[in-house]
Amino acid sequence: MNTEARETTSQIMKFPETGAVLPGLAELIAAELAPKVVDIDVHAQYPKDFMHKLGAIGGFASMTPTELGGSGRGLKHAIQVIEEVSKECVSSGFLVWAQYAFQWYMANSTNTALKAKILPQVAYGEILGGTGQSNSMKSCCGIEEARLKATKVEGGWKINGTLPWVSNIGTDHYFHMGATVEGETGLLIGFVPGNHPGLTLVPSPRFVGMDGTNTFACQFRDAFLPEEQVVCHAGAEFAAFRDRTKSAFILLQMGMGLGLIDACAAMMKRSNKTHAHVNRFLDDQAEDIEAALLEARAATYALADRIDRDGSAPYVKGTLELRLAGGELSLKAANAAMLHLGAKGYLLNNAAQRRLREAYFIAIVTPATKHLRKELAEMQQAPVCCAA
Ligand SMILES: Cc1cc2nc3c(=O)[nH]c(=O)nc-3n(C[C@H](O)[C@H](O)[C@H](O)COP(=O)(O)OP(=O)(O)OC[C@H]3O[C@@H](n4cnc5c(N)ncnc54)[C@H](O)[C@@H]3O)c2cc1C
Repeated sequence: MNTEARETTSQIMKFPETGAVLPGLAELIAAELAPKVVDIDVHAQYPKDFMHKLGAIGGFASMTPTELGGSGRGLKHAIQVIEEVSKECVSSGFLVWAQYAFQWYMANSTNTALKAKILPQVAYGEILGGTGQSNSMKSCCGIEEARLKATKVEGGWKINGTLPWVSNIGTDHYFHMGATVEGETGLLIGFVPGNHPGLTLVPSPRFVGMDGTNTFACQFRDAFLPEEQVVCHAGAEFAAFRDRTKSAFILLQMGMGLGLIDACAAMMKRSNKTHAHVNRFLDDQAEDIEAALLEARAATYALADRIDRDGSAPYVKGTLELRLAGGELSLKAANAAMLHLGAKGYLLNNAAQRRLREAYFIAIVTPATKHLRKELAEMQQAPVCCAA
């Protein structure tokens, strides 16, 4: 078993242990993920089998209601699953996030026929998928232009444009796209199979981290989206959908940060067994990182419970603030772990340098640090933001 993730603050502070989060999860991570982490990171190996097996034990069921085949255990539980996976590997934690984000949009759609057909399969990992919503979120906040356009045609919509990066997809996967519609506010959101006619998946150039995430550019050339595959229409329907989904969609990403920070604190403590006499001169100590982690974890779980109770809409600002702090703490923890490990941490198969690259991803994946700061600054000026 990879020892990095096992000596965790969960054990010290009575947060649920991996087995308590989900029966079989600890064993699955130890057997199917831990031995493959370097291949995922260095050789861009997509952990497809792990994802299907995680789905089979209920790892993706939390945000689907029981009547649609899920466990309905809620947002906090989904975050905890992402956290446990991210203690070992943030690439895989991000894939679990993508699967949950995909599921969450579906669960909030008013397209009941599509939900009933797809959600049970998503909840148990028979269908894997992702979300191409970073461009949507950035365009709604005035950061960049929307890249997809939808035009009404008989029986559906014609989609044109390119999304530069969508993860956890492939020709046998599915994802959600968002497109502008002339004369309408907001976006049309569609459910798209990876082998959809008119869609080309273009493999990304190599990334320095997160390369095992099956990330593609999605080119739409007059792709027909039938009305039955519309998750949400533009206009008032989109505004209500955004309000229902936004906070949970973003808070889910805290699972990646919490898992990574926990693993970094554990690495620092292990290093201190032999190097405490010199590590103690570093700025950020294991206890500092752990204390900040415990605070962030408690705040995340409490906010997740409140969102489950009251819905996403009242908690957008609190979510953005926490997500920003989570990205910053991830960078701090990974930096501290790297400095603790020293030259050993610089080895290609050592987790310390991988954690550094993963931490940067947490800080740059949409909503990125600069995006979060922009949105929060605008909220200061006007109480209602345009955010997707
Ligand atoms: C590994 C990985 C996985 C991702 N997975 C997803 C996903 O599943 N869903 C999703 O919606 N988004 C995904 N993204 C996008 C991510 O969420 C951010 O939107 C993206 O990293 C840009 O954010 P930014 O704030 O840095 O943007 P900006 O500050 O706006 O900078 C983006 C820069 O990247 C450049 N750029 C854009 N596309 C490419 C490209 N293909 N090659 C080279 N340069 C390019 C742009 O021109 C611009 O200069 C992924 C990104 C990465 C790196």
